[in-house]
Amino acid sequence: MFIDTHCHLELHRYGDELPFVLQRARDNGVARMVAIGSGGTLATCEEAVRLAEAHPDIHAVIGFHPHEASAFDFDAAQGVAEFAEHPRVVAVGETGLDYHYAFSPPVVQEDAFRQQIEIARMVGKPLVIHNRESDEDCIRILQDSPAGSVGGVIHCFTSGWDLAKVALDLGFYIGFTGIVSFRNGEDVRDVLRRVPQDRIVIETDSPFLAPVPHRGRRNEPAWVVDVARAVADTLGLSLEEVARITTENACRLYRLPDIEPSGSLTA
Ligand SMILES: [Zn+2]
Ligand SMILES: [Zn+2]
Repeated sequence: MFIDTHCHLELHRYGDELPFVLQRARDNGVARMVAIGSGGTLATCEEAVRLAEAHPDIHAVIGFHPHEASAFDFDAAQGVAEFAEHPRVVAVGETGLDYHYAFSPPVVQEDAFRQQIEIARMVGKPLVIHNRESDEDCIRILQDSPAGSVGGVIHCFTSGWDLAKVALDLGFYIGFTGIVSFRNGEDVRDVLRRVPQDRIVIETDSPFLAPVPHRGRRNEPAWVVDVARAVADTLGLSLEEVARITTENACRLYRLPDIEPSGSLTA
């Protein structure tokens, strides 16, 4: 049994294939999918919430991605704060910093990030943090904000050990994608080997970053199993051990109800 802790399932990404995408995940033993409703509008947040309302095995995360930080105005902040209270919403995000693309100016990204940390603190839910080529500022913000009081995950980790260390010290989990399976993913595998096993979670970040042997195709949650296999190979563990460890970690991270071996909800 596996949990895809981070996937983008909006209709514009999968169209009317979505039911088949979800079914293939279930057939592959994916017991939970965490849908990130983090586009540049409240409509994307709402879409993730509706998906989570319709499917007991889907939970939602809502927020504004750093790419869209410029759109995070007063109304957006109000809307995110309201959605964040929804019982099917398990975290706030993805928020954070992305200086690789820098679609929004860094100061604007930082402001939206800090506001969403504050929303997470207010509703008492964890954060899903995106960081790309902005390690120094991310470390500074994590350390001088209340982020550590709610914790969360640094998803699709591609940063250096300095950020991993600070995040781990603050109680965060580290999310690994198909990059672990890439030939050029050695830096990420190095970090993976150093992260305590009780802090590792796996994700597809669908529809992006399809793992080997699907690399280059549109990714989907069923292939979180291939991410788990790459993690198992890297750590010298069995696939079953990685499934068990990462499922337990994901349940703790997002405070999901326990999952019975049948995959049904216990709470
Ligand atoms: Zn991201
Ligand atoms: Zn994402």
